Amino acid sequence: STQLVWFRQDLRTKDHPALRAAAECGPVLGLYVLDDETPGKWKPGGASRWWLHHSLAALADELEALGSALILRRGRSAEVVRKVASEVKAGGIHANRHYEPWWREAECEKGDFVILHDGDVLHEPSDIRSGTNKPFKIYGPYYRALHEHFPPPAPLPAPRLSRPDKLPPSDRLESWKLLPTSPDWAGGFAEWEPGEKGAARRLRHFVDHAGDYAGKRDLPAVDSTSRLSPHLHHGEITPRQVWHALGRRGGDKFHRELAWRDFSRHIILSDPELGERSQRPLGLKTRSGKAADADFRAWTRGQTGYPLVDAGMRQLWQSGWMHNRARLVTASFLIKHLLIDWWRGEEWFWDCLVDADYANNSQNWQWVAGTGFDSQPFYRIMAPLTQSEKFDAADYIRRWVPELARLSDADIHDPWGRGAAPAGYAKPLIGHREGRERALDAFAKRGK
Ligand code: FAD
Repeated sequence: STQLVWFRQDLRTKDHPALRAAAECGPVLGLYVLDDETPGKWKPGGASRWWLHHSLAALADELEALGSALILRRGRSAEVVRKVASEVKAGGIHANRHYEPWWREAECEKGDFVILHDGDVLHEPSDIRSGTNKPFKIYGPYYRALHEHFPPPAPLPAPRLSRPDKLPPSDRLESWKLLPTSPDWAGGFAEWEPGEKGAARRLRHFVDHAGDYAGKRDLPAVDSTSRLSPHLHHGEITPRQVWHALGRRGGDKFHRELAWRDFSRHIILSDPELGERSQRPLGLKTRSGKAADADFRAWTRGQTGYPLVDAGMRQLWQSGWMHNRARLVTASFLIKHLLIDWWRGEEWFWDCLVDADYANNSQNWQWVAGTGFDSQPFYRIMAPLTQSEKFDAADYIRRWVPELARLSDADIHDPWGRGAAPAGYAKPLIGHREGRERALDAFAKRGK
């Protein structure tokens, strides 16, 4: 009988346990449901929708080439999956396990109706427990426990597929209007190649350069990290494939970064509301109202007067991605220098990132805000000007903040402080010392 494979954030054919299991039982039909209801406010944001459009087109081609087909439908996942299953008289519904609370809810709505397979992580995160059989809250011990399971299983090849004789109706991808129309802000996304082939190409490129990873991963001007995050988020490649392709090349440092992705999934299993609620509320009085809104807008547009912050925010808007060092600095600037609630920044990232990922995004925002169980203390305040110099961000700034492109290496990190700011470059929203003192003062008065 026909086997239905429900694709979600696993838009690939290789190393796909659900697809393989389905292929062993009969003809296979792939199904993707565009569901803007079940995830509530966490439905895919603008940049993710751009990615999704291209990734689904690529997946349809891959499935076709293997002998199957992809059906597109829209609506509430649990209902639509059941409906299509009954239309095709499916003998089984297969899916890979995901950890976002809304997916877990959809999987068990009215009883477990899908057969779940593990395979989008290095090791099933619910399986990693402390000595007293509790979930971990801190990364270090989690990584040590995960390390016991290395190497992860070898990736599975794509299965050979057959499809049912008659296909149910499918939406046209174009009718979903996932791409921006006017204004088309996605011009700068050309550097990305969504889909399984694009992911494999990106991985091959990284494998050749991975020797530089540990030494250069913190330098935003250098292309030394994998840039696999959007491919990993949409499941066009698995962490296991990445792990095995690299071998020892990225070193322990790379394994540790990749494992943060597993860890954040482990965290949302025990704290599904991670994206909406501080794990340890600090009781800080944050800013709101007109002046704070104006500052927030300037931050989103990359007009804070701090070159590294502005470069990061403009890279995000123009390319749908931001270097990790810049993510740390821009997030810290919003939360501490501007004293604005972390979840406003988190929501902006959600809409703008091609790798917007509920677990990773929430976990990292809470880390910077000092509200996560594992986080940097609030009173540790990153100095954006010093960070810029320390991590050699001059060329990064030149690329993303063109009005500063002609400044020297000595002036570019702090053009206002050096009296070198060109006309037209934003004035700092707040001085570093002043911002730092305001944040520390709010911290000292917390809960009062
Ligand atoms: P590499 O350095 O090449 O790492 C390889 C992979 O490991 C990444 O693709 C990612 O899947 C994983 N990884 C690396 N660092 C982290 C981390 N700190 N936390 C979780 N996983 C990690 N990452 C996302 O995938 N989606 C997000 O929405 C997201 N939001 C973030 C928000 C903030 C405020 C911060 C500080 C970080 C955020 N990150 C997020 C984590 C990290 O910045 C990105 O994963 C990384 O920059 C992606 O680039 P890369 O693929 O070149 O990473």
